[in-house]
Amino acid sequence: MSKKYATVIGAGVSGLTTAVLLQEAYEVTILAKNFPGELRGEYASPWAGAHWRSDAKLEDARQQDFDRKTFIHFWDLGHNKSFETGIMIVDGFDYWDKHPPSDWKEPWFKDLCPGYRHLKKEELPKGVEFGTTYKTITISPPKYLIYLMKCFRINGGSTKRASLSHIKEAIFDNTDVVINCSGLGSKSLRGVQDQDVYSASGQTILVQLPVGHVNWTFGRYAAGRTDGGTHRKNEVLTYVVPRDNGEVVLGGTYGQHDYSITPDADIANDIIARCISTRPDLLPKGETKLKIIRHGVGLRPVRKNGIRIETEWTQSEQTGKKILICHNYGHGGYGWQSSYGASMHVIETLKRAYDKQFIAKI
Ligand SMILES: Cc1cc2nc3c(=O)[nH]c(=O)nc-3n(C[C@H](O)[C@H](O)[C@H](O)COP(=O)(O)OP(=O)(O)OC[C@H]3O[C@@H](n4cnc5c(N)ncnc54)[C@H](O)[C@@H]3O)c2cc1C
Repeated sequence: MSKKYATVIGAGVSGLTTAVLLQEAYEVTILAKNFPGELRGEYASPWAGAHWRSDAKLEDARQQDFDRKTFIHFWDLGHNKSFETGIMIVDGFDYWDKHPPSDWKEPWFKDLCPGYRHLKKEELPKGVEFGTTYKTITISPPKYLIYLMKCFRINGGSTKRASLSHIKEAIFDNTDVVINCSGLGSKSLRGVQDQDVYSASGQTILVQLPVGHVNWTFGRYAAGRTDGGTHRKNEVLTYVVPRDNGEVVLGGTYGQHDYSITPDADIANDIIARCISTRPDLLPKGETKLKIIRHGVGLRPVRKNGIRIETEWTQSEQTGKKILICHNYGHGGYGWQSSYGASMHVIETLKRAYDKQFIAKI
């Protein structure tokens, strides 16, 4: 059977992962405003930590499935292709300032992540009442995006820089399928204009430490942490995510509906203080200051009700041909840890849409 042609909009982790998976059955072209190697606030992927810590709720089987498949995929890469992908297997720690309420339930991934257990009192940082630990994964986004791009090129994929104003601009004479992985762009891209999409800004500091000095990651949930608010300061989550070259990302903030990409000096100082006070071993022996590489703010592409993976049929204005569109956007603060599972779901969703069309014809 001859290959079909697909256009993928977007070259973040969602677009590139989907594009590589599609290449088993399609000739693929990626159209995007931003590509790996670039740092723009609204291009979320390079700004992430990134670490795997699933936030999927106990009743959210779909999101758990995405996160589980991605964990298994990354676990394998972390063992077999760590140098090339920048994926590391590390000890993960979750800390809570206040002991969770008595009806608190263990996270769904307690049986997925090896070594999951509660921390003993003497293992808790100062000011922390409760904590868990388990093996997890960190990813170096710059390295992994380049790895995906390399896989894509080896498989014969092509790329074109373009800033689309309408999704139909991704349809060429030979196009069969368009996959929309435009992240925050889906809010304004005509033909999509999803008003459930909005930004949640995240301020971070990238610091340089000796390679291997930090081989753990943590997330600390502050007492009285809110789930709302429009200012970056309003939701306080402290985290540290190491990369394989000694770089470490310190975070963070979660400013819902905040589109500003200018780092705030007071917030940066607060983040650094929070990270060091939680884990004083962040600083190498004898050092009193961290070597800062860069301050930054990235915009998480949040979507109310979660990731949209859905197909719709349209018609090419040039040829009249029926074109299948599949969306894959709205990954919020969990686009890395769900990237592979969500992209697999895109492939399955496309197959189902074609099968349905075939059945409808007979
Ligand atoms: C500070 C921070 C920390 C994070 N930490 C984590 C973490 O630890 N773990 C985790 O899983 N996730 C984390 N995330 C979230 C994660 O980074 C995102 O969910 C993920 O990167 C989204 O990827 P994406 O490919 O969907 O979107 P993006 O990376 O934003 O890519 C969108 C692509 O679409 C293109 N595009 C948009 N509009 C158009 C248009 N009109 N025409 C052409 N191209 C267009 C863009 O140029 C870009 O190429 C974090 C995010 C931030 C900001």
